Amino acid sequence: MSQTKAYAVRAADAPFEPITIERREPGERDVRIDISHCGICHTDVHQTRNEWGGSVYPMVPGHEIVGRVAQVGGKVEKFKVGDVAGVGCMVDSCRKCAACRRGLEQHCEVLTSFTYNSTEQDKVTRTYGGYSSQIVVDEAFALKIALGQPLERVAPLLCAGITLYSPLKRWQAGPGQRVAVMGLGGLGHMGVKLACALGAEVTVLSGSRRKQADAKRLGAHDFALTSEAAAMTRLAGRFDLIVDTISAQHDVNAALGLLKTGGTLVLLGAPPKPLAVAAFSLVGGRKSLSGSVIGGIEQTQEMLDFCASRKILADVEVIGLSPKEIAAAYERMLKGDVRYRFTIAM
Ligand code: NAP
Ligand code: ZN
Ligand code: ZN
Repeated sequence: MSQTKAYAVRAADAPFEPITIERREPGERDVRIDISHCGICHTDVHQTRNEWGGSVYPMVPGHEIVGRVAQVGGKVEKFKVGDVAGVGCMVDSCRKCAACRRGLEQHCEVLTSFTYNSTEQDKVTRTYGGYSSQIVVDEAFALKIALGQPLERVAPLLCAGITLYSPLKRWQAGPGQRVAVMGLGGLGHMGVKLACALGAEVTVLSGSRRKQADAKRLGAHDFALTSEAAAMTRLAGRFDLIVDTISAQHDVNAALGLLKTGGTLVLLGAPPKPLAVAAFSLVGGRKSLSGSVIGGIEQTQEMLDFCASRKILADVEVIGLSPKEIAAAYERMLKGDVRYRFTIAM
């Protein structure tokens, strides 16, 4: 066991404080990563505050992890000391069930071990995330990061990147397709970059007028304020696919009205309270309302390689690892004031 410095919350309404956690000694197939950066996902806010229920404390959040490999077990093949590695939202799964065999470890039928607020496969050992100095993980769940990239801008790809890449691929975003990205935050801004890179025509649907110029700079072809009735009328029936990244209560029926006949709205954001869906929002245009959660390990590697080859990186504000800075970042995210991911430099 090695003693590891981390930051945790001890209750839903408690501030972050330093704690010491134990990471296992690397086993034969494990790598130990000295964490250099960790992105802050809105999920960290939901989970530390127990907005979804089921939070276990103390909790060390963080699942957008990058750093240098500092130690490798005897049978590790993918990494050597000094390589750059990443860890996203998962650290293990059963690896045997039908979902795991299809590369859908996030849907493991037995147990997906999430990076924090979860357990290892023994169902006992608790997992702690990336607001910490190091992590030990089986190489099968560590991602290879191409050298020469600014790591503070790579970290958010490990969750925000794959969460958008996976549905964009599944619903075949590409040339000739009109895609709307709803909510321009950490997930949304990666959605714009990725959908543009895949060749789709991209519109940002936002609640913030002040993000209009940014949407264009990120590559979006169009921008509309969801609060403007005229804009909603202009875009009615326009999109093949809407990726909805909004973290709070919102009108999903208005968004469904923007889909073409047969179009799909994919929920990626996870507002704590149920959303109301009117049957008439779906039946008339035989539209689909779906959802998606991160992506499998193989697809995460594909996304990282795609981003490295296309020079796609997150736009970040780098902060230090201190309770005050984390609290300020959370408050800004809750106000929709994120440009477009906070990354903690360790
Ligand atoms: P974020 O950076 O805080 O962005 C969320 C965006 O949603 C905001 O920037 C804002 O965009 C919009 N928004 C926020 N509050 C709103 C409100 N009350 N009404 C309307 N719009 C609002 O969050 P994120 O890290 O991108 O995460 C977004 C959501 O996805 C969270 O619920 C998170 O837990 C979830 N998530 C899901 C997955 C998955 O695998 N499915 C993975 C990661 C995160 P505008 O200013 O443009 O309106
Ligand atoms: Zn996340
Ligand atoms: Zn499984």
